[in-house]
Amino acid sequence: MSDSTETASDEETQRREVLIVGGGIAGLTAALFTARAGLDTLVYDGGESILRRNAHLENFPGFPAGVNPRLFADMLHAQATRNGVDLVAGRITELREAEDDGFVEAAEDDDEVRADRVIAASWSNTDYLDPVDPEIRSAGSKQFLEDDEDGRTSVDGLYAAGRLAERYHQAVVAAGDGARTAITLIHDSDTPFYHDWVTPEGYFTDRGREVPPGCEEIDETERAARRAESRAAMREYFAEEHEERQRTHPSLVDDEKGRLDGK
Ligand SMILES: Cc1cc2nc3c(=O)[nH]c(=O)nc-3n(C[C@H](O)[C@H](O)[C@H](O)COP(=O)(O)OP(=O)(O)OC[C@H]3O[C@@H](n4cnc5c(N)ncnc54)[C@H](O)[C@@H]3O)c2cc1C
Repeated sequence: MSDSTETASDEETQRREVLIVGGGIAGLTAALFTARAGLDTLVYDGGESILRRNAHLENFPGFPAGVNPRLFADMLHAQATRNGVDLVAGRITELREAEDDGFVEAAEDDDEVRADRVIAASWSNTDYLDPVDPEIRSAGSKQFLEDDEDGRTSVDGLYAAGRLAERYHQAVVAAGDGARTAITLIHDSDTPFYHDWVTPEGYFTDRGREVPPGCEEIDETERAARRAESRAAMREYFAEEHEERQRTHPSLVDDEKGRLDGK
């Protein structure tokens, strides 16, 4: 994780517009969208995205020769924080409804966070949700949080995203589902929003339209600056082999192949 990850003890107890439980693929993508829409967004992450067990990610669009999944997770993390997401390394242990409105979440270090809305993206953990009693579907040892396909659960203000909502077990599906849930939440919160689009200068305004909420028009100078920054960042990310060792299933032990357990 990048240096911008706070420890739970650094975090002041305050009210957030959006709290996301789980900083894996779905949670960080959802956070990217809510933060870019201007909602004050905090992610709590236990640091165990199951994607870290993948050996080489070859079916996420945009990487013709695939990408190291641990590097990919780090890049997603950096993209979220760059766009205004606050991240805390730690687990949420309990979610309950607040007396006034919204939710109170307790973390493993006894910190409490208040939030207007919560997105659960915590594959594969639902225990902390027990006090609010959402609809949960059990399938063998797995538990899935029921939703209306747009991310709303049976509890007002609580949303679900990614594998926890029983979406297909693929990274790009989890990312897309995180974005969809986030946009549902943005609309429910009455935040002015059209689409999260960056367009060339004049795309709207030369047609006599205001730039819609959530959109941005940028001129050629700004485009050139962003392209240059993007090239420099990608060169840096891919310059060296990622140092984190391969993760495997938690039931397997450290072995001569150099693998670590799943955590
Ligand atoms: C061995 C293996 C190989 C795979 N290979 C591929 C592949 O090649 N291509 C592909 O598309 N998909 C692959 N997948 C699937 C892909 O990794 C998942 O579908 C995707 O990661 C699901 O995203 P998610 O955000 O729902 O869950 P995750 O990415 O697992 O994120 C969940 C996050 O929630 C956190 N969390 C859980 N409980 C709490 C809590 N109480 N408080 C705070 N945080 C919490 C966890 O620590 C974790 O960081 C593979 C999976 C495995 C196991």
